[in-house]
Amino acid sequence: MLRPLFTRQLRSNIIRSTSVLSARTFASAVSTSGPCFTLTEEQQNFQELARKFSHEEIAPKAAYHDQTGEYPTDIIKKAWELGLVNTHIPAEFGGLGLGVFESSLVTEELAWGCTGIQTAIEANGLAEAPLIVAGNKEQNQKYLGRMSEEPLMAAYCVTEPGAGSDVAGIGTKAELKGDKWVINGQKMWITNGGKANWYFVLARTDPNAKPGAAFTGFIVDANTPGITPGRKEINLGQRASDTRGITFEEVVVPKENVLGTPGKGFKIAMAAFDITRPLVAAGAVGLARRAMEEALKYSLERKTMGQKIFNHQSVAFMLADAAIGVESARNMVWKAGWLRDQNQRNTYYASIAKALASDVAVTTASNAVQIFGGNGYNTEYPVEKLYRDSKIFQIYEGTSQIQRLIISRYLAENLTQF
Ligand SMILES: Cc1cc2nc3c(=O)[nH]c(=O)nc-3n(C[C@H](O)[C@H](O)[C@H](O)COP(=O)(O)OP(=O)(O)OC[C@H]3O[C@@H](n4cnc5c(N)ncnc54)[C@H](O)[C@@H]3O)c2cc1C
Repeated sequence: MLRPLFTRQLRSNIIRSTSVLSARTFASAVSTSGPCFTLTEEQQNFQELARKFSHEEIAPKAAYHDQTGEYPTDIIKKAWELGLVNTHIPAEFGGLGLGVFESSLVTEELAWGCTGIQTAIEANGLAEAPLIVAGNKEQNQKYLGRMSEEPLMAAYCVTEPGAGSDVAGIGTKAELKGDKWVINGQKMWITNGGKANWYFVLARTDPNAKPGAAFTGFIVDANTPGITPGRKEINLGQRASDTRGITFEEVVVPKENVLGTPGKGFKIAMAAFDITRPLVAAGAVGLARRAMEEALKYSLERKTMGQKIFNHQSVAFMLADAAIGVESARNMVWKAGWLRDQNQRNTYYASIAKALASDVAVTTASNAVQIFGGNGYNTEYPVEKLYRDSKIFQIYEGTSQIQRLIISRYLAENLTQF
C-alpha cells in the first residue's frame, strides 16, 4: 500500500513547493554549473514517488490489462491524484510545471511497471504539447486547466490511414465558413482515441500551399457533433492503451480554437515532438530496464549443466549489453530533455534518444526472452509481454527510420558542429 504521505495532500504540496522550487528552478540551477548527473532532492522525490506507484499500483495489474485490454481508468486516476499525469502543464494552469528532464524520471518509472499504461498517460502529454508550444492564455487556461482539475484524457490526432511518416500527405481538411472552421477527414492510430475529452487535430487549410503554410492545428472538444471514434484496435502489445481511428464529419470548431496562426500547424505539430520524443525514449528505457532486471534475476536462479545460467558467458554478456543500452539511452534522454528545459533546440538529440532507446528496448526485451528460454515464450512469465510491448517504440512518434532521417539531415546541415 502507498503510505498516507502519497495523497492528494502530497500532490498539492508538490504543486505548492514546485511553484517555488519548480523543475524549471532545478534546471536553471543546473545550467549555472553545466551538466550534472546528480539528481536534486526534489528530483529524487519525484522519481521515488513514481517508482513506488509503479511497483505497487501498475506492475501488479499489468498482466490483467494486457490480457483483457481493459483501459486502466482507476490506475490513471490514482496516478493523476499523485501528480504523475500531465507533469509538464505549467503551474499557472494548475500543473506541476515540470521540465522534460524531470518528466522523464517519472516516465521511466511508470514504464517499468507497464508501457501500455504509461503510453495511455503519456498520450496526454503528446496532446498537451502543441498547446504548450503555441496555445494562448485563454486556450491553455481552458484546456490545460481542465486537465489539472479533473483526471481527463486527451489525444493527438495527426496520423491518417494514408499518411503517418508523411505528415505533409494528410488529407483531413478544415474550411473556414463564416467565423467557424469545419473539419472533415479520417484519423488513424490515435492513442486515447476513445477516451479523450479533447483532441489536438492537424488539418489541411490551404490545398495549394507548401507544408509550412498548408496546415492548421485545432483544439477540438471530443463531444462535438460529427466525431466518431472507431473500435479499439487489437495491437501486438501495449494493449492497455486505447488506440482508434476517428472520423470527423462536418465537425464545427470555433475560430478561437485555432492554435497559433492558421497555416502554422505543421510546425506546431512537429515542435511538440521536441518535448515528447525524449519522454517516449524514457518509456523505452523503463521497459529495457525492466527486461534487464527480470532476465538478471532469472539468470541467477536458473541452472543448466550444473551452473547458474548467469555463469555462461554468452548469457552474462547479453546482460552486460542490456546495461550498456539502458545507461547510454538514459543519458541521451536526460541530455535531450535538459536541452529543451534550457530552451535550446533539441530536435537532433530528441531523435537520437528516441532511435537509440527504442532499439535498446527491442533488443533487450528480445534477449530477455532468450535468457528465459522456453519460459520466456510463455505468458506465465513477464518477458513475452515486454517483447510485444517494445516493438511500438520503433514505430510511434516517428519511426526509427524517420528519426535517422532527421539525424542525418542535421549532420549534413551542421558539418562541423559536433
Ligand atoms: C499503437 C499506436 C499508437 C499511435 N498513436 C498515435 C497518436 O496518438 N497520434 C498520432 O497522430 N499517431 C499515432 N500513431 C501513428 C504512428 O505515429 C505512425 O504509425 C507512424 O508514424 C508510422 O506511420 P505509418 O504507420 O503510416 O507508416 P508509414 O509512414 O507508411 O511507414 C511504413 C514504413 O516505411 C518507412 N518509411 C516511410 N517513409 C520513409 C522515409 N522517408 N524514409 C525511410 N523510411 C520511410 C517507415 O519507417 C516504416 O518502416 C500510433 C501508431 C500506433 C501503431
